[in-house]
Amino acid sequence: MSHSERPEVLAYIALGANLGDAQASVQVAVQRVASLPDTRFICSSSLYRTAPLKATGPDFINAVVAVATRLSAPELLQCLQAIENQAGRLRPYRNAPRTLDLDILLYGDARMNSPALQLPHPRMHERAFVLVPLAEIAAEKVSPDQLSALAFQAIERLAAPSP
Ligand code: AMP
Repeated sequence: MSHSERPEVLAYIALGANLGDAQASVQVAVQRVASLPDTRFICSSSLYRTAPLKATGPDFINAVVAVATRLSAPELLQCLQAIENQAGRLRPYRNAPRTLDLDILLYGDARMNSPALQLPHPRMHERAFVLVPLAEIAAEKVSPDQLSALAFQAIERLAAPSP
């Protein structure tokens, strides 16, 4: 099936960076995600600042973007990894400080459990830096109980990014 015949799927992507000019990295990444092939930008959350969780280094800048895409989930992941690589991401060790980290949170209602791709993202409900921006743009995807369970994780809302 060619891409143009596939139905669009609504996907939510989490972005995070904590090296260099993290705010600029996230803003550039939002633009790159918005201009992926066979993909329509729907909206992005504000930018948020969070302290590193199980990671070292400076504070993170985080955001969540919604897109409608005709890419398959593995194709979308491949495109996101290309954007990470373009941002010069190195993986010297697990949870190392990163220039840019992109995760697929939700891909429609898809459920996948391969090592390369798990959907919904298995740790999204443990992280305020994911749930708070996701709730800003898709309140129906996050319950008040899920949000209040993470209230102990400090998160500061910054300006809204312009894609
Ligand atoms: P990380 O270093 O935390 O960004 O993890 C990247 C690895 O997680 C990659 O090898 C991906 O194949 C894998 N992965 C599994 N599920 C997902 C997902 N929903 N979004 C992004 N990466 C995923």
